[in-house]
Amino acid sequence: MIVTMRSEATQEQIEGVSERLRKQGYATHVIQRQEQVVIAAVGDGSGPDHLQPLESAPGVSEIAPTSQPYMLVSRDVKPQRTIVRAGNLEIGGRDLVVMAGPCSVESREQLLETAHAVRSAGARVLRGGAYKPRTSPYDFQGLEEKGLELLAEAREETGLKIITEIIAPEEVELVASYADILQVGARNMQNFALLKKLGGVSKPVLLKRGMSSTIKEFLLSAEYIAKHGNDQIILCERGIRTFEPATRNTLDLAAVPLLNELSHLPVVVDPSHGTGRRTLIRPAAKAAIAIGADGLLIEVHPRPEQAWSDGPQSLTLSEFANIMNELRGYAKLEARRLN
Ligand code: PEP
Ligand code: MN
Repeated sequence: MIVTMRSEATQEQIEGVSERLRKQGYATHVIQRQEQVVIAAVGDGSGPDHLQPLESAPGVSEIAPTSQPYMLVSRDVKPQRTIVRAGNLEIGGRDLVVMAGPCSVESREQLLETAHAVRSAGARVLRGGAYKPRTSPYDFQGLEEKGLELLAEAREETGLKIITEIIAPEEVELVASYADILQVGARNMQNFALLKKLGGVSKPVLLKRGMSSTIKEFLLSAEYIAKHGNDQIILCERGIRTFEPATRNTLDLAAVPLLNELSHLPVVVDPSHGTGRRTLIRPAAKAAIAIGADGLLIEVHPRPEQAWSDGPQSLTLSEFANIMNELRGYAKLEARRLN
């Protein structure tokens, strides 16, 4: 339920209404909209019969039900779109933001070569996993802090922002001390201890959709981060697991406009994990722009055939540059700008 207070409502009235809602069994969250305060009441409460008197409570303008179990990330509570900021970089505004780089940070040479190339091609953010959540425990697990240091060096050299994955709550402080944007991978979308911890961080979080998760579950995971205090969240559609083995995942492009309808958070698409095939990145990226994505997350490697992870879906440096050139025209059609 959403309680909109009158613009002249006093602090005392806002607290009074919140208190009444809590007594009825709701959890409350006070949100400052442009001129008005909105109180989001989450939970089952004691039912609509008790709402009537609240409508005439001092300071209340309107009470509206909401059918969504998530509140803070929903458009019902905040109709205007959120722009996520990482320093001077805005995600969710007019600019399309491309984040590109290797699946894993492997070496200084590999990372710096990629960083310079993706920057000249127009990427704004360098991606690279230092902590890798691998399906097999025998696969490369990442360079860990050494990888973070290399990412920081690449940022220093190129001016790119850096995004890297965080896989455990106990590593949040360390990874947040290096990264500009923290990535929560598909396998961790419902790692609630991690999500709660990220609520207390003052860095943006890119939340990937879990491989078998519904849109509702996805938004409820974002709600965890928002509820714990961090509203700087970017949603990332990266494909879901279906009966189709011909692509690594099934890229659910319809999720993009749907998420835009349901939530005010920016949405980016990862065509690399979404398809798993180098040849499909170009068409999938074009489609993502046409369907309303605010950005793209793309895997790029100087020598994909030698990559320690996700080589088959990684673009070469020149393939990436060519695709970026082509995407510029598509961005214009959507009245977006691409660096
Ligand atoms: C990645 O970005 O390299 C990654 C592991 O992605 P996902 O969590 O989507 O599988
Ligand atoms: Mn990968």
